[in-house]
Amino acid sequence: MRIVYGPVASWRLGRSLGVDLLCSKKKICSFDCIYCQLGKTEQLTSRRSSFVSLDQLEMEIKDALAHASMDVITFSGTGEPTLADNMHHAIKIIREFTDIPLAVLTNSSLLHDKDVQSTLKQLDIIVAKLDASDPQIFQQINQPATEITFEQTFEGIKTMRKIFSGKFALQIMFMRENKKHAPRIAELTEDIQPDEIQINTPLRRCDVKPLLKKELDEIEKHFTGLNTISVYRSSRPMTHPLDKTELIERRRMEP
Ligand code: SF4
Repeated sequence: MRIVYGPVASWRLGRSLGVDLLCSKKKICSFDCIYCQLGKTEQLTSRRSSFVSLDQLEMEIKDALAHASMDVITFSGTGEPTLADNMHHAIKIIREFTDIPLAVLTNSSLLHDKDVQSTLKQLDIIVAKLDASDPQIFQQINQPATEITFEQTFEGIKTMRKIFSGKFALQIMFMRENKKHAPRIAELTEDIQPDEIQINTPLRRCDVKPLLKKELDEIEKHFTGLNTISVYRSSRPMTHPLDKTELIERRRMEP
């Protein structure tokens, strides 16, 4: 499996070249979200580690920059990217070769960690997950590793937002389970004051049914005054992936 893949057509980031620092056939994550299209988390952990070779990353990023066009380079992939403790060095390597904005899609569980904070500060865009407004719904939807709490995750989001000078977006996945919590989630987002709120519902293959467009439109009204984008109203750009076969496989897997 390649560390660098795509570019994928992202409804929120444009043409996004993916960097997967976990790159594992086995799903490794600090959450086991009920809507995850990767299926069940096989290694549920909040312990950070190194999973890929940075020499390999350097080779692949140089190749991708020579052969593909993209708007952004995004740390994402087969689990929670901040679990990779060599992300700091990975960012430095990519910066040596390009000024293209760097982003991360994170589930927010490690944003309280000082090392994760200093790593993510080097990026241009952070897209942080917030699907719950209290510990109970957090457990029900995100099913985190035992040591991860809602309070710590929420405080981590608030701290990261304060210390980060780039674009800070919140991604919220709505489904039947948290639909009625939308007003309270909206109140929490006012505390955070993100640059953007991405309102989503599970449209990719998984065990949870997506909400309808009219339900998402109703939910969006609770976020009045904040800058929202919604999956049903967004278009996707054209892309020319480096490896189409791998991308089809990853589309099934990508969070
Ligand atoms: S959706 Fe993302 S955060 Fe949730 S289990 Fe899947 S990979 Fe992990």
